[in-house]
Amino acid sequence: MTDITELTLSETLNGLGSKEFSSVEVTSAYIKKMEEKRHLNAFITETPEKALEMAKASDTRRSKGHVGKLEGLPIAIKDMFCTKGIKTTAASRILSNFIPPFESTTTQKLWDAGAVCLGKTNTDEFAMGSSTITSYFGVTKNPHNENCVPGGSSGGSAAAVAAHMCAGATGTETGGSIRHPASFCQVSGFKPTYGRCSRYGVIAYASSLDEPGVLGRTIKDCAHMIEVMMGYDPKDSTSSRKEVPELHKMLDKNIKGMKIGIPREYTELVPSNWESALTFLKERGAVIVDIEMPHTEEAGMVYYVISQGEATTNLARYDGVRYGERAPGETLEEMYMNTRMLGFGQEVRNRIILGTFFTSAKGYYDYFVPAQKMRSLIKQDFDKAFEKVDVLFSPSVPIRPFTIEEAKHGAAKGRFNDTYLMPSCLAGLPAGCAHNGLQVIGRQWDEATVLKVLDVVEEIK
Ligand code: GLN
Repeated sequence: MTDITELTLSETLNGLGSKEFSSVEVTSAYIKKMEEKRHLNAFITETPEKALEMAKASDTRRSKGHVGKLEGLPIAIKDMFCTKGIKTTAASRILSNFIPPFESTTTQKLWDAGAVCLGKTNTDEFAMGSSTITSYFGVTKNPHNENCVPGGSSGGSAAAVAAHMCAGATGTETGGSIRHPASFCQVSGFKPTYGRCSRYGVIAYASSLDEPGVLGRTIKDCAHMIEVMMGYDPKDSTSSRKEVPELHKMLDKNIKGMKIGIPREYTELVPSNWESALTFLKERGAVIVDIEMPHTEEAGMVYYVISQGEATTNLARYDGVRYGERAPGETLEEMYMNTRMLGFGQEVRNRIILGTFFTSAKGYYDYFVPAQKMRSLIKQDFDKAFEKVDVLFSPSVPIRPFTIEEAKHGAAKGRFNDTYLMPSCLAGLPAGCAHNGLQVIGRQWDEATVLKVLDVVEEIK
């Protein structure tokens, strides 16, 4: 038999269904791949024993006729999702010994559907970054060029998918952290509308922006995983009660007559396949419409003010008292200070300090409130666009992956990293990109159309 890890997630599900191989066989093949590629540092924690145990249980279930939507499928989990009994660190020293006593809702849904846990993937510390360079556990290498970063913050997941160390992986986006590494590692990435996936048990960075999502080798693979993760959760007050469609069945390759908008502001820098991409979509029957998104340039600033303000509040809980690492001190206050100085890396500390300012009595009215107003205007740009078109299409990250060395010197803060990604996060809209780096953004709740168009976009060379 050929190497099972070469198959896509959808093909693996078919193979498991036709009993071509068992979950234990698929899982063992992935565990072997994880060992071979360990030097990439895609995982913070590998859970091979747990994986084999879950795979055996899955094979038993299948033999009794109980087959979940992802039955027997080995996947990886970004280390921002709490997993019961498995170390969960957010790639931070402050949580380096944290073993959650509970499971995040989205990962629970994956296990309930039969998926198998291979381990926890690397990320920028608390998902703050675009390279995994801020991880306490060291940078992840890009499987396509090991001198380069995998992008971030979900860089471990993207690298693991690209290097065939898992069939698919979870990620989180706050300001582009799935699409960015997906683009750098040439895999697919997708995040649904804010509120579709529960944030319960996902370590909080910026609560009004954080969104769980997926990375896979194809768009169909992403569809399979995300439809399992989506759905109402009473444990998350922002969770949507909307019904979840069977997304993987809706990819019919038909985009005839569909109106695809190109935001002018997202084409300032385009990749070399851009013109041929537009021709391709026209040939498939789509109507291309020029769109204006006048508040795009402000998105970066707005994102940083809001996310850092929210991060300051969310990260206040790491005080060395309830969980995580503690550094001793003479007084309680000193213990707090020592713990937080030792436990948080530089990038996280910077953001906490700025966020504290943005939410202080003065900073609040000078920065935080104006940023919220601008966020509404950014959302309105999308509302207006979607009066005219069905989806928006653009490059996701129009630059090539930078080297680890360049990342150490600030390349991850470059302007073109997240410019085309952050606005859709601020508006909470469904968005994804294909392995060729081209992205599609859709209307609120309309994951189906975004995935459908991406499934066609995926064919563009
Ligand atoms: N790269 C952005 C940042 O540095 C976005 C991160 C994210 O989406 N988690 O914050």
